[in-house]
Amino acid sequence: MRTDGVLDPHDPAFSGLGLELDGPVEVRGQLQVTGDDEYLWRGSVHGAVVGECRRCLSEVRAPVDLTVDAAVFSADPDAADDPDFYPLPARTNTIDIADVVREELALAAPGALMLCRETCAGLCPTCGADLNAGPCQCGSPAEPV
Ligand SMILES: [Zn+2]
Ligand SMILES: [Zn+2]
Repeated sequence: MRTDGVLDPHDPAFSGLGLELDGPVEVRGQLQVTGDDEYLWRGSVHGAVVGECRRCLSEVRAPVDLTVDAAVFSADPDAADDPDFYPLPARTNTIDIADVVREELALAAPGALMLCRETCAGLCPTCGADLNAGPCQCGSPAEPV
């Protein structure tokens, strides 16, 4: 079963991640029945996130390209506490891929890696001046964090 679709960036599944999605998230994948009330999803996730450069705090937009090898959904109550499974209500025929996307985004932590550019000089730890604009006035040596 194909599960291509687009997720709303304001989907509540994405709240609390500490990053903001920039535009809709495109999801392409394949859902397979692997057992009684058990499904395997694999696919890819494309989108973009907006966050702060971790050196100079300016706004950065970063692409998100994730590949999900195997996300297993199970309605088996025994699997409910197993972190390897996404819980599924019994006898459902809808599967919420947003949960998988949320999980993958949290693991990939794109916000933690964001830089406005590779050579960003960051902010002066002493006076807080943006060192990309040139040396600051306080005379501290410019050292990237
Ligand atoms: Zn920066
Ligand atoms: Zn300074």
